[in-house]
Amino acid sequence: MIEKLKQIVLKNKDRLFYVCDNECITYYDFWEKIKYYSYYLKRQGTGPVIVYGHKSVNMLISMFSCLLAKRTYVPIDISVPRKRIEDIIRITNADLFIKNEEIDNFKIETLKLDELVKYHDELEKESISKYVYIVFTSGSTGEPKGVPISNDNLENFINWISNLLYNNKKVNVLNTANFNFDLSVADMYYSLFNGHTLIAMDDLNYDSMFLRILKANVIVATPTFVKMCLLNPDFNDKNYNNLKTIYFCGEKLEVQIVKRIYERFSKIQIINAYGPTEATSAVCASIITKSMLNNNILPVGDVSSAATIITIKNNEIVLSGKSVFDGYLNSADGFFIDSGDKYYLTGDLGYIKDGLLYCSGRCDNQIKYKGYRIELEEIENVINRIDGIVDSCVVPKYNENGVVKYIKAYIVGNRQKDDILKFLKERLPLYMVPKSIEFLSKLPINENGKVDRKKLINL
Ligand code: AMP
Repeated sequence: MIEKLKQIVLKNKDRLFYVCDNECITYYDFWEKIKYYSYYLKRQGTGPVIVYGHKSVNMLISMFSCLLAKRTYVPIDISVPRKRIEDIIRITNADLFIKNEEIDNFKIETLKLDELVKYHDELEKESISKYVYIVFTSGSTGEPKGVPISNDNLENFINWISNLLYNNKKVNVLNTANFNFDLSVADMYYSLFNGHTLIAMDDLNYDSMFLRILKANVIVATPTFVKMCLLNPDFNDKNYNNLKTIYFCGEKLEVQIVKRIYERFSKIQIINAYGPTEATSAVCASIITKSMLNNNILPVGDVSSAATIITIKNNEIVLSGKSVFDGYLNSADGFFIDSGDKYYLTGDLGYIKDGLLYCSGRCDNQIKYKGYRIELEEIENVINRIDGIVDSCVVPKYNENGVVKYIKAYIVGNRQKDDILKFLKERLPLYMVPKSIEFLSKLPINENGKVDRKKLINL
């Protein structure tokens, strides 16, 4: 992987690797910096490294310096609350914390020049660490689950996505997700390993957002993001004529949205990709043609060209093979072993028809809200830790199209709403904090003796 990266850098020396806010960096400068800092990182230890920051050149330099130094990086966005960061440090056993604005302070004072030259010569001959990165997803036990992704997982993904998208012609790729979400793995590694230019959406600032999109040839985003773009009537092929492809992943792509995109961009290529963080960003994808828009559900992937093995077991999508991670750092969930092979149970309900995979819902209480993955039990577990709370049930509230509008918590207990919200905001990312709280004297129970979630969803 490192040798390949070096070849790409040599071929694209003067090309911009990354553009963000008011800063940018060429492939050559990027490579020189990560070589330098990786030397420092290698001498500091061997454990995972927390890379803390947002969208900046230094954030990328920090992550890829870890890759070169054979140290697993753990990206954490500045929006993650402090107590959750403490959980992540404990779970990963990380022994170094880099604030991305500080990486420039790394000084290799004790450096012997010949040692550095030797290090650079040897660099590409060495294999990289088993786990390249660890990202965290919502966990039903009340703490986030750490997903380590190996060098083999990632290499397999890079090959798959490079075959799917442009790999000869140079393009500008728009990164919309923060680096602690695995959607960013798709744009970042696809762009870097094909010599493209990655353009960062720094923040959801409406004006700067459209300035970035103006330059993009490929957008990598959730449907939620593109729905927001469609609110702007000027978002069409007359004004945004560079835009050639939208790669969707992460949540259900509604037929209605694709119809609206085709009305504005008649020649655009729309790709609907599917996959969980546990199987390295995405495992399959379908090109959504206009003829597919007569159905009420869109395919999420062509099984024959998938990055891994996809099967259906009891209506659930099951993944095995090269894309699938080894297991969570802090949970044994999600796997079954059959004849020595390991299978990952996605929790997604689905079926395969004419070689295409369809995703039809969930068999648990995981939801997608504004593109974010949330285990509702994680929120309940945190609420139930508050003194004076007896029980709670957190449910999604849907709009008429079946899309989650907001999250609501039904709580039995004696606490002020403000105290509860303060406690939650200290521990959960903002998108997991319920918009609305209602107190009940007891939670409704269904005929199986369980909390009647359906009743609360429709209340
Ligand atoms: P994440 O780990 O955040 O990438 O979320 C993975 C989950 O997002 C999957 O297990 C699915 O429930 C959902 N998902 C991902 N891609 C799609 C898609 N194209 N259509 C429907 N659901 C999707």
